[in-house]
Amino acid sequence: MNPTKKDIRKLSQQDLEVYFQSIGEKAFRGKQVYEWLWKKNAHDFNDMTNLSKNLRENLDAAFRIQPVEVDFLQKSNDGTIKNAVKLHDGNVVESVLIPTETRTTACISSQVGCSLDCTFCATAQLKRMRNLTAAEIVDQVVIIDRESREYFDRPLSNIVFMGMGEPLLNYTEVVEAIKKITLPEGLGMSPRRITLSTSGIPKMIEKLADEDLKIGLAVSLHSAREEIRNKIMPFSVKFPLTDLLKSLQYWYDTTKSKITFEYIVWKDINDKKEDIDALVRFCKRVPSKVNIIEYNTIDDGPYQQASPQVLNAYIDALEKNGIIVNVRRSRGKDIDAACGQLANKTTK
Ligand code: SAH
Repeated sequence: MNPTKKDIRKLSQQDLEVYFQSIGEKAFRGKQVYEWLWKKNAHDFNDMTNLSKNLRENLDAAFRIQPVEVDFLQKSNDGTIKNAVKLHDGNVVESVLIPTETRTTACISSQVGCSLDCTFCATAQLKRMRNLTAAEIVDQVVIIDRESREYFDRPLSNIVFMGMGEPLLNYTEVVEAIKKITLPEGLGMSPRRITLSTSGIPKMIEKLADEDLKIGLAVSLHSAREEIRNKIMPFSVKFPLTDLLKSLQYWYDTTKSKITFEYIVWKDINDKKEDIDALVRFCKRVPSKVNIIEYNTIDDGPYQQASPQVLNAYIDALEKNGIIVNVRRSRGKDIDAACGQLANKTTK
């Protein structure tokens, strides 16, 4: 591959129009190529059949596309499909298709590895290698949409940024990807079907609120007690819970969209009455609901799912206080595709 060729998917539609004018072509060619790239997800200039052969060759000489490819996929007994997605430079990320009766959800990655240090998450044990580009994020969505049509006879319906990485630490490319996924000149999906999940980076939450993207926000809270949260998610020492709360209040005031807290309950970590009380107090400060997620064992670490009694105590307390709570069962555990298990473990 010629390394001087530019990644064409880094160009805006306007950049493409300028390029075509610079080679003596009409500007509308820019729009045509943009649509091939983002609406139809073309990965080969030869597929752009409304361009002359000559133009296609010009493009091929000047640019590259660098699509991702599914290296291999695994199917779980419950229908979940995990893709190992290979990037042009050989790095691999994972993305997961999660089917239910009525929906297909794509769980997609935003970084290769992760720079955060959540002690219960398998992805955190990988170094952060690099950020994904917007195009690499969109490609994952297109792949899962195709699989949903092939295996479940329906298009992809929802997208969650809950794969590898911290999306708000790859802010620019993630926001760009969301625009490409939602705008009519891109994939044209509804932003209301997209949820971005963050470990909680207050400044970036506020910035995201200002983008007015109309997406949902989930926050991996896991404890509303500072000293506990700092232990299980050490990076959060830099982001006190009061700052996180302020940013979430800003999110709600700006977007009028409720926050979802993701919460795992572990034995001996956050299973006391004071943990429950702290969560209830925290939830009351900002319009929110709670998803209690099942803990997926990743190694012989200190973490163990709390007993059903403790889960029920959480649910009772939240419901008594008018806070909506759902319990999420894990999907795809048998193939290490569940939350917190994405770690490029599988080899062919
Ligand atoms: N960095 C973002 C995006 C990753 S989402 C975030 O933290 O929100 C992955 C979700 O799975 C997060 O809610 C995370 O807390 C949760 N998770 C991590 N490890 C897990 C495990 N072993 N079992 C269950 N959930 C886990």
